[in-house]
Amino acid sequence: MGTYATVSVPAGEARELDRVATAAGGHFREMESSLSIFKPGSEISRLNDAAGIAAVTVSAPVEDVLRLSVHYSEITGGAFDPTVAPLVRFWGFNKGQLPAAVPDEAEVRAILAKVGYRNLVVSNGTAALATVGMGFDPGGIAKGYAVDVCFRAIGEETVRNLMINLGGNIRCRGEAEPGRPWCVGVRDPFSRDSVMGTIRLDDGMAVATSGNYEKQVVIGGKRYAHIIDPLTGWPVEGVASVTVIATNAVEADAMSTAVFVLGARAALPIISRMPGCHFMLVPDVRPAGIYLSPGAGEHFTLAPSATVIRDP
Ligand code: AMP
Ligand code: MG
Repeated sequence: MGTYATVSVPAGEARELDRVATAAGGHFREMESSLSIFKPGSEISRLNDAAGIAAVTVSAPVEDVLRLSVHYSEITGGAFDPTVAPLVRFWGFNKGQLPAAVPDEAEVRAILAKVGYRNLVVSNGTAALATVGMGFDPGGIAKGYAVDVCFRAIGEETVRNLMINLGGNIRCRGEAEPGRPWCVGVRDPFSRDSVMGTIRLDDGMAVATSGNYEKQVVIGGKRYAHIIDPLTGWPVEGVASVTVIATNAVEADAMSTAVFVLGARAALPIISRMPGCHFMLVPDVRPAGIYLSPGAGEHFTLAPSATVIRDP
């Protein structure tokens, strides 16, 4: 999945760590082999190769990822939409060719015509992309899904306290040590070594961050981030990072990508309907400030050097 994974347990359960790490690695490799868009024979590669031609059979976990993708596309009005695959490649990501110059609107529109989650059809054990040239890009949801699979598979009978982190997609069980909860920092997107604050993760909670600093291309001297607005076809501007807290990792992953596209104002009514789901957004404006959705502050402690933005 092009990233690193870590598992953590408290000192008192350290003797289980090797076993847990081996199990987690196995789960992640298994998910990657079915979901990768870079491995020629993977289920998602077969789905993409058959776009506009045929439905393909899919395993239960892949069907799950596809159904969840459609769900998050629906509830975000298409801000989250993994059928952006052709656009992601068009803008030079995922091994697509980097445009020589800033594309014009007509070129973008032509690619945009191949995008739309409504043309991803999932039924019992099969999936299809309705038109030629479509593609499914699991990059905005697969890591969160894999963390949940791993979290459930490594049950409480193995370790009572656990933190799983796959490329910033995190889920926790129990506590970091007796009486001290698991905590993660929210990185300052403008400075590698400092944090905007810390998030307290209670039992079972998940967190994910989408940052414009993760993957970028430079076209005509301007930087473009790897998250594309599926409604316009252009890379999202104005947001440096979004962190989402949720009751499970797949929701945190999909929603961090979605809120990045939506922006704080449009995200608020959607997130407010999702129990246990909150977001923090750092606009791409210096000096760095952080906006907290109502309820996010309960889990978040601001760093002394950071400032809160009141109005999104
Ligand atoms: P994340 O880091 O979870 O925010 O996921 C970003 C990745 O998801 C990108 O690198 C693309 O592969 C893919 N992606 C880009 N834009 C979108 C979007 N609007 N909806 C869903 N996936 C996207
Ligand atoms: Mg995501």
